[in-house]
Amino acid sequence: MARINSLEELKAMVSPITIYSEYLHLVGSGRKRTSLCPFHKEKTPSFSIDVEKGLFYCFGCHKGGDIIKFVEEMERCSFEEAVSILARKGGVDFSFQKSERGSVEGKKRERLIEILSTSLEYFKKSLLNQDKDGGVLTYIKKRGIPEGSIKELSLGYSGNKGELLSLLLKKDFTKEECVQAGVVREGKSYEYYEYFRDRLIFPIFDLQERVVGFGGRTLTNEEPKYLNSPETPVFRKRELLYGLNLSKEFIRKENRAILVEGYMDFVSLYLKGIKNCVASLGTALTPAQASLIKRYSDNVVLLYDSDEAGKKAMERAIPILLSMNLNVNVAIIPEAKDPDDAIKILGVCEFKKRIDESVSFVDFVLYQFNLQKMATLDEKLSFLEKVAGDIAEIKDPIKKEGFLNEISSRTGISKRTISKKIDSLEKVSSSEVIEKEKEIILSVNEIILIKSLLTFNREYLSLISAIPKNILSTLNTFPLIEKLLDGQEITGEEELKTLAFVNNSCHEVVSENDIKGAIVSLKKDFCEKRRKELTAKMKDAEVKGDRELVGILLREINAVSKEANSIKMDEIK
Ligand SMILES: [Zn+2]
Repeated sequence: MARINSLEELKAMVSPITIYSEYLHLVGSGRKRTSLCPFHKEKTPSFSIDVEKGLFYCFGCHKGGDIIKFVEEMERCSFEEAVSILARKGGVDFSFQKSERGSVEGKKRERLIEILSTSLEYFKKSLLNQDKDGGVLTYIKKRGIPEGSIKELSLGYSGNKGELLSLLLKKDFTKEECVQAGVVREGKSYEYYEYFRDRLIFPIFDLQERVVGFGGRTLTNEEPKYLNSPETPVFRKRELLYGLNLSKEFIRKENRAILVEGYMDFVSLYLKGIKNCVASLGTALTPAQASLIKRYSDNVVLLYDSDEAGKKAMERAIPILLSMNLNVNVAIIPEAKDPDDAIKILGVCEFKKRIDESVSFVDFVLYQFNLQKMATLDEKLSFLEKVAGDIAEIKDPIKKEGFLNEISSRTGISKRTISKKIDSLEKVSSSEVIEKEKEIILSVNEIILIKSLLTFNREYLSLISAIPKNILSTLNTFPLIEKLLDGQEITGEEELKTLAFVNNSCHEVVSENDIKGAIVSLKKDFCEKRRKELTAKMKDAEVKGDRELVGILLREINAVSKEANSIKMDEIK
């Protein structure tokens, strides 16, 4: 191991991009990368990284600093701890001059981590020392875990003889510390006994691959079947996912995470080569867990048990994942009771196919309703009731628009009515967001036009400049659009704000079809507005008894309707 002496040397030894990507889902290339900020809640990335200098800065909450500061913030640890984490990651030996910066809290946490890693070593050794025909190895075999994989998964076995406690005490940890670490508990009359007894142990790691807690499957039918470590200063169940230490690179590479519920679900998929999966520790999914997934990918496929409880759990997980701006699909495998079962029944090939064929959450709700065609208004309304809450969580207006279209075509309920329903929910759920964003109100069409103008693509430019002025001028952002068409520099504060808003509200790449669609919709809106004006005038004329004018207006109305009907995507050039 290389030995180094200064912080500058340390910083030079670790690759900033490797460190940042362990915590964040980075996008971009070259010297600058961006990501969602881990320090404040946001839906659009304002966190930027200078790869060469290793510095970070958030334009939203204005936090910034070097890589040590970053680790300090992410791990909520002391400066000293951050340095030693970096040294470990960089594979260098770095002795830190003891300074006043190491906090008492940090030292305490390090002790707990030491207890946990000592415990894990004990559990692992104890599993290997078990009798081949003993309970735990028989169980492992029955569950289809090959012996060779025990090590890869760091599985262990907690005995029932109190050996761990005496081992820890021998290593000079106190009983109180062992209780704090969650491996020992205190009985009523001050006796101490081990937290996990006669259980198959699944270690849970944090993002720096330190063991912070355990899950234990009973081997003696003791309740509960799966026992998790208690909440401790280092084990916060709501912020951890089982298996992420093994799967994060695969999730990043495949740009998709398969989210399952239990330890065994993860283990069986992972061992069959479905490596981009992760499990939620057998508890209801939390926003912190969703944002953990978001660091590695934007796409999640939910695969829970196919019973009612599993479906309910998925229903609860969907809005949480959507609110983190993740694309959510659901894998439906009705012939299997759980993921473990699914991969055994289907085989790897077919299983992968089912994951690829996973459906949108809207289709999942439809499937739940067991109604491919919704016959009665009642059915339609209760369907709408169910999906409206999910849609309300989607912040990207283009994505939202897509789902609105889909639901409208499925139910025959107009988009306006659906939007109203969703708006009423949104006002309750995220009034704060609306408060902040209400200054800028743009239609989806405007967002598409402005976004495409920002790409400086010539074809897009000519499509947009071909829109008749009388139509374009009805938009609030007409002056801005004209400037962009002209290639003028944008300097006004309001206009810059609008550009930022557009960038932030649309992450998708705009395609030629999106633009044509927006133009069709603008032209139709324009006709519709004109038709309404003419109709109002005609009613006026009728009241006044001006038959001649009524006739003229009627012809105009017909002409406008005809024009509206003739507007087609493929005629936009
Ligand atoms: Zn921030």
